[in-house]
Amino acid sequence: MYKNFKNIEKVVYGRGAFDQLDAILEVKRTLNDRFMVFIVDEYFKGKSLEKRIPLNQEDVIFFENIDEHEPTTWQVDRIRDAVKQQKGLPSGVIGIGGGSIMDIAKALSLMMTNEGSSSLYQGLNLVKKPGVYHLGVPTTAGTGAECSMTAVLTGPEKKLGLKCDWTVFNQVILDPDLTATVPRNQWFYTGMDCYIHCIESESGIFYNEFSKAYGEQALKLCREVFTGEKSGQHPENNEKLMVASLFGGLSLTYSEVGACHAFSYGLSFVFGMRHGYANCIAFNHLKEFYGDAVEEFREMVRYHRIDLPQQLSHSWTEEEIGKMADVAYKLPHMWTHALGHDWEKKLTRKDIMDIYRRM
Ligand code: NAD
Ligand code: ZN
Repeated sequence: MYKNFKNIEKVVYGRGAFDQLDAILEVKRTLNDRFMVFIVDEYFKGKSLEKRIPLNQEDVIFFENIDEHEPTTWQVDRIRDAVKQQKGLPSGVIGIGGGSIMDIAKALSLMMTNEGSSSLYQGLNLVKKPGVYHLGVPTTAGTGAECSMTAVLTGPEKKLGLKCDWTVFNQVILDPDLTATVPRNQWFYTGMDCYIHCIESESGIFYNEFSKAYGEQALKLCREVFTGEKSGQHPENNEKLMVASLFGGLSLTYSEVGACHAFSYGLSFVFGMRHGYANCIAFNHLKEFYGDAVEEFREMVRYHRIDLPQQLSHSWTEEEIGKMADVAYKLPHMWTHALGHDWEKKLTRKDIMDIYRRM
């Protein structure tokens, strides 16, 4: 069976595109109880972007702090309960921020119409009803969360996405200028999420011409952004990285992520490490999976003088390493992609623990 691919319905791309948000929302404002919910990264509170948000009197806005932890099921449930109690069913949910905010907005849209806690829906096709209209405005570039069919949340038991066709945004606005203020280390970690998506997508059994077409272009753009003299964070590269992020996401949606993301999920679950950063920590030690790409990655780290701590495992307990291995081991779709359908014969929980000990 081939995947039945669900793409974003509408995309606006270009520097300054954010200012089209008002006109785009205009025609959606008659839906449901006639108000919009804006979920905005707290970073933008008091910044110039805040004044450009087309907030009507009846709308509600939440500035979410995502620095203390990655998005959680509790966070989504809290916002949903507050909105429904105070105002009813919104016309739409608009997320403005990085991958974390994209995931909160996608999950929130679904939870407006599905009963109970979002933790009940962590998994594939567990969501029962379509959510409300939702629109994403990414302010970082790399995660592919703008196009993916999953809203990754950390819940009481696992870090796992609410994954179904209805998760995908109805509309995205890709304005590369919004990424200009991302701090250098974060720019790199999130950008490397895209690079790693492309490498993982191509290094496994689910790779195919569809994934390849997007993945090769995304990888080419990543190399322009992160290697050589013209690399670095400037307007032209911000345009490139935003497209790379989208294409990397499309590539992996029709293929799969692999070992690096499995290790990364363990790191995020146990230590709360941010996704892009955790990917970088893991990728640096996965030469047996990704060969020369690991050398290329290290060169990019050196060139951009990025902080990438070594020997973190020295301060980890056996219990923590075991817990991470449990989280990583329970991602069979990633291991199947990376190692084949008989992956359980090739990789044990102990092997996973040994690789964590290298980090
Ligand atoms: P992020 O959203 O976690 O943000 C990282 C930091 O950058 C935060 O401090 C944030 O406040 C700040 N920030 C965001 N935009 C900024 C801007 N324009 N200027 C200055 N600071 C800015 O980072 P991310 O790497 O974009 O996203 C990581 C999250 O995305 C993780 O929670 C991960 O699980 C999720 N993710 C989801 C998918 C998916 O398919 N759904 C894929 C990859 C990652
Ligand atoms: Zn990723």
